[in-house]
Parts: sequence; C-alpha cells; structure tokens
Amino acid sequence: MAVLITDSCINCDNCIDECPATAIVGADDSPLEDGSFTYVKPEKCIECVDAAVPKCADVCPTEDCIVWDMPYTEEYEDYFVQSENYTIRVHKKKGMLTPSVQPRPFRESISLDDRDTHVSVGQTLKLYN
Ligand code: SF4
Ligand code: SF4
Repeated sequence: MAVLITDSCINCDNCIDECPATAIVGADDSPLEDGSFTYVKPEKCIECVDAAVPKCADVCPTEDCIVWDMPYTEEYEDYFVQSENYTIRVHKKKGMLTPSVQPRPFRESISLDDRDTHVSVGQTLKLYN
C-alpha cells in the first residue's frame, strides 16, 4: 500500500467492488474499533500498479477523499503497526500480516513527501479537472 480513505468519505461504497485486490470494506466491516467509514486494508492494497490510476479514487465522488500513505514495505513496519488509522489483519498461521511478512507493490512515481503529507490520489494523478 497504500491509500487511505479519510473522514470525508460518504460511505457510498462505490469503491468496494472496483478494487482488484479486495482490499476495501464498508464501515460495518471496518477492523477499526471506531470505524465509521469505508476502510482500505493496507496489507492487501496494491495501489492498482497495473492500472492507469487507482480504481478506488477513479470512482470516488468525493474529491480528495482518498489519499496516499506510505509504501507497505518493511521500512514502514512500525508506522503501519502503530498507526491508529489501521488494524492489520492477524492470519491464523502467518500471524500479523505486517509489511515485513506481506509487503505490497507500490507506485514509485508517488514521492515519499506526498505520501507523508497524505496528498490526495486525485491531485497527484490529475483525476479532477
Ligand atoms: S488503490 Fe487499488 S488496490 Fe488499493 S484500495 Fe484502491 S482500488 Fe484497491
Ligand atoms: S467511493 Fe469514496 S466516498 Fe464512496 S465509499 Fe469509497 S471512499 Fe467513500
């Protein structure tokens, strides 16, 4: 990963079926204790690296709702484990699917600065006019 859905989400759930990695769940299935909007599982998101743009952001009606987060790689192990934005899945056999256990592909074209400041996916990939 990863992309992060922010609290401007209106829970339309348009993005869920578009995700090629089945990484998105509705608010009712959010693993966050206080999850009240649609959630992206960073341990599954592949940033749609094989597509022109991330599918979720492409169909989202809420401008700037979906933002970049850090790559889901070992370097950001502590970040993802400790972030209050995420609850990483615990697999029965593999344990917690942290970045070192299950690293995900990411778009190298998105800078670490843009990720760190959670720039919106739409702004970086010019999804908006
Ligand atoms: S960027 Fe792609 S893989 Fe990641 S949550 Fe969005 S649609 Fe799914
Ligand atoms: S498409 Fe956008 S507004 Fe709708 S559920 Fe997904 S992130 Fe939220």
